[in-house]
Amino acid sequence: MPHTQGRAPAVSLGSQGAILRTGLEELEERKAKLMKTKADIGVVGLAVMGENLVLNMEGRGYTVACFNRSVDKVDVFLAGRGKGRNLIGCRSLEELAMSLERPRRVMMMVRAGQPVDDLMDALRPYLDPGDILIDGGNSHYLDTMRRCDAAEVEGILYVGAGISGGEEGALHGPSIMPGGNVGAWPVLKPILQAIAAKVDDTTPCCEWIGPDGSGHFVKMVHNGIEYGDMQLIGEAYHLMSQGLGMSAAEMHEVFLQWSTGELDSYLIEITADILTRTDPHTNKPVVDLILDVAGQKGTGKWTSQVGLDLGVGIPQIAEAVFARSLSAIKEERVLASRELAGPESLFSGDRGVLLAQLGKALYAAKICSYAQGFQLLRAASREYGWRLNLGDIALMWRGGCIIRARFLGKIKEAFDENPELPNLLLAPHFKKVAAEAQAPWRQVVKTAVDLGIPIPALGAALSYYDAYRSERLPANLIQAQRDYFGAHTYERIDKPRGRFFHTNWTGKGGTTSSSTYVA
Ligand code: NAP
Repeated sequence: MPHTQGRAPAVSLGSQGAILRTGLEELEERKAKLMKTKADIGVVGLAVMGENLVLNMEGRGYTVACFNRSVDKVDVFLAGRGKGRNLIGCRSLEELAMSLERPRRVMMMVRAGQPVDDLMDALRPYLDPGDILIDGGNSHYLDTMRRCDAAEVEGILYVGAGISGGEEGALHGPSIMPGGNVGAWPVLKPILQAIAAKVDDTTPCCEWIGPDGSGHFVKMVHNGIEYGDMQLIGEAYHLMSQGLGMSAAEMHEVFLQWSTGELDSYLIEITADILTRTDPHTNKPVVDLILDVAGQKGTGKWTSQVGLDLGVGIPQIAEAVFARSLSAIKEERVLASRELAGPESLFSGDRGVLLAQLGKALYAAKICSYAQGFQLLRAASREYGWRLNLGDIALMWRGGCIIRARFLGKIKEAFDENPELPNLLLAPHFKKVAAEAQAPWRQVVKTAVDLGIPIPALGAALSYYDAYRSERLPANLIQAQRDYFGAHTYERIDKPRGRFFHTNWTGKGGTTSSSTYVA
């Protein structure tokens, strides 16, 4: 049978009648809750995220039933971090289902992919129509769409909730992006908003995103942007360390200063902190001892793939993923470093000037990266009919999550002002920032190129900016080439759009042209 653990409520009684009554009512309410044998929600999967979410929920006054495939982890958790908490440890999924208030709310916090399908199959016999099944992991949104449909057939309300913030966020308040069967939202909303991070101490970083896979799609794009942000910061660090020969302590000062201005963000803050850490054995900065091979779990790759599928240019995010792939071929790079020529990589100009330019370049490039992410969201919203509220999404990312940043407030304002804004770069604030930053941004890119320091994301951002603001691109020549070798036809600038022409370039082809379509 499930075992419950209770915690004595702390109640202070005031001397006046009203206060006393309120205090007593609260006490009764709390007592009733503690005596309750049923849990408000069940969590399956007690790894980093699951464990911390359970503690977060319990800390907000909810009774939580928990289960883990390797059952010993339930015991370890209840005897350790869960000790003395209002939790119900379960030894089977059946026990978990029996422990829950109805409609049941079950959150799966397990490894994405097949484990979620396996767990759904295993849970199915114990769930009733009207129960709510939430996948809080990083599932692919197409899987979530499929699972939503499958659950609906059985009357189960399925929700794919992207959760960001890592271990600390899960414990103290993550950003939560729920989407799926909207019938679940009234029942889920109180608990999810209670455990979510709050912007300005009041607004929860959790709102209903939309139908089927939309919550997981938004989380995926969040992660894609995260890849881009991390790569940009990595490139700034590379330029400082390799190009300017700066020490970790010196770079710490720069990041610290950036964290107080427009670049203020969680990732800049943790970078400043990382640069202070020294290895106790060697007395060297820990960051210098870490192998330069970046891992990835797939969400950046998925974002890039979806960009290709939906035909939305997100080069910065894709470059960030490719940069990790290039980092992974360490041995090959070491060999190539001895074979391939490059310029002298030490900067000889004014360090202070370059650092100031770098801060501006970083901010402008970051805006481009978010502009690309939001364009992808807009395209998916149209493709799937999700009606995403881009301003609300910016607000949800304002706190709790890994890409939380001061400037997301500006993004929220931009979409509130014009929900149909085609690109963030066209919002008055960001247009002005980019205009002011473009000269230093170009200077930084030139400097990195001169020094032979790779800047795939900073460079892709600048090219994106220049391409987006170009009235004319060389695609006319590409169309001519396509028509030359494959009779693919082209449109003309002096004729209405949608009319296609073919030139017999070699005099040997006929007048037959290929049809126009997108594969
Ligand atoms: P994880 O390492 O991704 O997954 C481990 C958990 O999955 C364990 O509880 C494990 O149970 C369970 N599991 C694996 N295969 C299973 C199966 N076939 N059936 C049932 N359970 C199975 O854990 P995590 O890092 O806490 O992440 C959980 C989810 O949140 C993942 O989707 C992850 O991508 C997502 N997420 C993680 C973070 C983060 O910072 N870590 C942040 C946001 C989102 P056993 O103990 O029995 O092996």
